[in-house]
Amino acid sequence: MTLEPLPTLETLRDEARDIHDSTVALRRRLHERPEVGNELPLTREAVLESLDGLPLDLTLHESTSGIAGLLTGGRPGPTVLLRGDMDALPLHEDTDEDFSSAIDGHMHACGHDTHTAMLVGAARLLSARREELAGRVLFMFQPGEEGHHGARHMLDEGLLDLPAGIDGAPSPVTGAFALHITSAMPTGWLSTRRGPVMASADQFMVRVTGKGGHASEPFRAVDPIPVACEMVQAIQSMITRRIDVFDPAVVTVGRIVAGTTNNVIPETAEIEGTIRAVSEHTRTEVHEGIRRVAEGVAAAHGTEVDVELVIGYPVTSNDDRFADFTLDVANEVVGADRVRRLPHPVMGAEDFSYVLNEIPGTMMFLGGTAPERDPSRAAPNHSNRVVFDEAAMPTGVQLYTAVALHHLAAAN
Ligand SMILES: [Zn+2]
Ligand SMILES: [Zn+2]
Repeated sequence: MTLEPLPTLETLRDEARDIHDSTVALRRRLHERPEVGNELPLTREAVLESLDGLPLDLTLHESTSGIAGLLTGGRPGPTVLLRGDMDALPLHEDTDEDFSSAIDGHMHACGHDTHTAMLVGAARLLSARREELAGRVLFMFQPGEEGHHGARHMLDEGLLDLPAGIDGAPSPVTGAFALHITSAMPTGWLSTRRGPVMASADQFMVRVTGKGGHASEPFRAVDPIPVACEMVQAIQSMITRRIDVFDPAVVTVGRIVAGTTNNVIPETAEIEGTIRAVSEHTRTEVHEGIRRVAEGVAAAHGTEVDVELVIGYPVTSNDDRFADFTLDVANEVVGADRVRRLPHPVMGAEDFSYVLNEIPGTMMFLGGTAPERDPSRAAPNHSNRVVFDEAAMPTGVQLYTAVALHHLAAAN
């Protein structure tokens, strides 16, 4: 597919640079006061102040601190959704940044502060072009991405139930786009792929109940510890023997707890782990497999077992055509030598998956490690030492803006 060059696209780079100071200022303000979860009052206040004066119809969500901003263009057309997440992580920051977290135990270690600031930047650039837009842009500022289902809450509260467009006709959301900064790529590089781009993430908990007793006489007890150990092994065998290697899953037991001392057989043992998959088919197979294996091993040894699955984020799946489209836009913005088509998905998870389950769209990665540093050795996202290069932010601002402009132009 070839993109029709946009008459205004040439100037986007200059405009993103012109507003860079304010983008950085907002990013640092958020970085210094990171908030975790779905209630982000300081963050919401900072975003609202930054959007002040822009011609957006704002909806302040009530179930969370989410903000939806609707920009209505001068001509009718569909709506394109741009997402920026706003929440931080519960960890202590150990960087030397001047603006490092002032809230102990909270850190913007996933770069969501940069996403929010870049999306505000895009709102400025697109607002300045309001009259020429044929359609609308829905800015989704979401909380609670880090495991709190913030996007799901915003959808449930009616994010996509939009009023009619300026001509009175429906103006549905026909495309959705989100960026994620990563220290694993150099500053300003962009990457994504068709189809699954990030994994699903579920948890499982298994509690094995035997019969406690004296460690010297196990035959009088029912020892749950070897049973739990056998389950850990059997679950790994289930993954390698039952799951298609080309539609993979990862199961990691991250916690195993039993007993109190050397000469007591405890009554119970617990194992807990995470399940990652890149298709809903495999995800379901693993859920069933863990239950079957845990129950089978427990029965073999005469213990009781309780298996609990906690369902997390679905697979984040890009629409093939929209992924090709955004890769074309990326080529235009940064040049083809800085754009990578990912060979395989990333096993992390994202709640933008909920949006992409309803609207065709793309999640794209933006490199954020300065050129003098080696991205393969840089502290990763979620590290207490991760540092994101602010020089990447004008690229993100341009990309959000250009995706919206191209999508609306192509629909008319
Ligand atoms: Zn994260
Ligand atoms: Zn993130």
